[in-house]
Amino acid sequence: MNDELKTLHATVIGYPRIGADRELKRALEAYWSGRLDEPGLDAAAATVRSQMLDDLAAAGLDSVPSGTFSLYDHVLDAAFAVDAIAPRHRRDSPTDAYFAAARGDAEAAPLEMTKWFDTNYHYLVPEIGPDTEFRSRPAKALAEYDEAVLRGLNARPVLLGPVSFLLLAKATDNAPEGFQPLDRLDELTGVYAELLTALVDAGATRVQLDEPALCADRTEAELEAVRTVYTELGRIADLLVTGGYGPFGESLPVLLDAGVAGIALDLVSGRDDLETLESHGVSRETFIVAGVVDGRNIWRCDLAAAGADIERLQRLSDNVGVGSSCSLLHVPIDLEAESGLDPLLTERLAFARQKLREITSLATPGTGRPGRPASPESWRDEIVRARLADLPTGADRRADYDERVKQQPDLGLLPTTTIGSFPQTAELRQARSAHRRGLMIDADYRARMKAEVAAVIAEQEKLGLDVLVHGEPERNDMVQYFAEQLTGFATTDAGWVQSYGSRCVRPPILYADVARTAPMTVEWTGYAQSITDKPVKGMLTGPVTILAWSFVRDDQPLADTADQVALALRGEVADLEAAGTRVIQVDEPALRELLPVRAAGREAYRRWATRAFRLATAGAAPGTAIHTHLCYSEFGEIIDAIAELDADVTSIEASRSKMEVLADLDRVHYHRGVGPGVWDIHSPRVPQVEEMAEALRLAARATGPSRLWANPDCGLKTRRYEEVRPALANLVEAARIVRAEH
Ligand code: GLN
Ligand code: ZN
Repeated sequence: MNDELKTLHATVIGYPRIGADRELKRALEAYWSGRLDEPGLDAAAATVRSQMLDDLAAAGLDSVPSGTFSLYDHVLDAAFAVDAIAPRHRRDSPTDAYFAAARGDAEAAPLEMTKWFDTNYHYLVPEIGPDTEFRSRPAKALAEYDEAVLRGLNARPVLLGPVSFLLLAKATDNAPEGFQPLDRLDELTGVYAELLTALVDAGATRVQLDEPALCADRTEAELEAVRTVYTELGRIADLLVTGGYGPFGESLPVLLDAGVAGIALDLVSGRDDLETLESHGVSRETFIVAGVVDGRNIWRCDLAAAGADIERLQRLSDNVGVGSSCSLLHVPIDLEAESGLDPLLTERLAFARQKLREITSLATPGTGRPGRPASPESWRDEIVRARLADLPTGADRRADYDERVKQQPDLGLLPTTTIGSFPQTAELRQARSAHRRGLMIDADYRARMKAEVAAVIAEQEKLGLDVLVHGEPERNDMVQYFAEQLTGFATTDAGWVQSYGSRCVRPPILYADVARTAPMTVEWTGYAQSITDKPVKGMLTGPVTILAWSFVRDDQPLADTADQVALALRGEVADLEAAGTRVIQVDEPALRELLPVRAAGREAYRRWATRAFRLATAGAAPGTAIHTHLCYSEFGEIIDAIAELDADVTSIEASRSKMEVLADLDRVHYHRGVGPGVWDIHSPRVPQVEEMAEALRLAARATGPSRLWANPDCGLKTRRYEEVRPALANLVEAARIVRAEH
């Protein structure tokens, strides 16, 4: 038999675990609210696992991952597998302990949650200290391995790798200065050795260790740790090491030299590894999984290009397999569930089930490897392209800030405002849903929303806020709302993707050139402004955030797509101005999220991301105040970008980090308006006047009082009026007190 006709090993790195119909989400929420007991939750989880195995079995893969199911989060599962449970989360029942760590309970705050690499998935941050006692707890891994084997599948247990586990963890609060979780790698490796032994004893012939942290820049010391750990663990089991979020880069030779038996390459965002592998060389027995099927986006695989990459690897190794670039966790489960999509789009898409088919087809000899069809002509918008090409240089630059600010509304010292949304009541959601399903006529719906806007304006006037908002009652989601009105976007019926725990999002699909066909927000903002003398702040979602929270076309650079979205927003800014809006906020909460994992890509990112924001906003007259809002508290890496947005006022989450961000802003000579949040809206707690006044004083000492704003950390959508009214009243009072001190 000709070598090239040999069947390749087909596998996948991981699979969605929330259930095709979000069964796990429903079961979890029922369990948390007491409507379902623990056996009921276990049964629902077993059903979801069985469904996962059905999908993997039906695809005809040669090996399948096991143990990738999770009740909440796979990093939390890893912590439990090594018994690294924070003392405050220990409970008699392991399930209680698990959910105490995930969500907190009456006795203890949960683990911190943060973004998983440059995705919109959030993981729980394990807390590791010098005294954390690791113990091997292989029960979950063994049970899920057995389940898969009983199905007759060739299962490969999956664990989060020890290096990534520690790099993703944080030091416990009482750890001594300078302690890092990675200091505990020796002990942890011993426990991983026990886990591997248990799996091998149970019959596993290969174990997958996910080391996504090796896709980021690593120090020499860290690489040395990788070498030591994998030399040791590789003796116990035949290991497949995956990365999945870009190239392994300098980690790749280290892993290979340590003698790992298999390596899974991300050949979607980490194709540089092909060259690294070619120049470093690899033994012909090494199992190399060519991760050619995109685990993070929903486009059909270009089988011709994938085939070429596979052939490149076949020149290096006799043991090449086909797989996904990373776990399919980040894509929806089944395209078949969609009925409303344009067939031209559908034929270009692949969700998880379809991706498995792509993998087996690539692995099967004699099946054609067609390239991807070009986008249809009808998806091109020549007008948008011409308008972008014809933009004068400097279209993304406004007059100097000092000039602008003189022409902008003078609100005195310490103006007060909010971030945009007001509480979304069940009744509001019902109205939106009735309207969407055609059960409420347009006129009634608009009247209902306007009544809400009027109520929100009245609330704010009563509270004495200075810059008002309309409250965003008409928005289901800050990205989907715009995606539904712009051309070039499609929305799905059931394209759910896990964001964290039971929370799922349904990202819109940005598939074609983007254009705005009509004003998107002017009716609401204009109405709000018509019923008050106070300035009303228009509210838009920025281009970077719209991209970050959508599935985006990959046939052109993100920067070009961002410019098209920016151009559409620029039109909206002009229409808002024409309708009399003098303050416009363009939210970019996802600016940090798309920041490349490796430092090498960051400069280019910063350039296009901030340019897109400026393109969206720089058409505004100097007298129009452009605000932006960013809601996360780790700013170090993105602080220059924040300055380069050139917004007149930036509101930022700051209350939990005690205004630390102000020092960072100082460092980059940011001298425009800033609204460090003084109320942590993620908690139902109502802060007292004095507490917010202290925060404002602290901020005023850091930046001087003249460019300071008083506002909450983020929008109020998830809060109740019972909290919002007293908290905003206290905020206004705190601003009044501090104002009087200057
Ligand atoms: N304007 C939005 C709101 O208030 C901003 C949300 C966000 O930052 N995530 O809801
Ligand atoms: Zn926010």
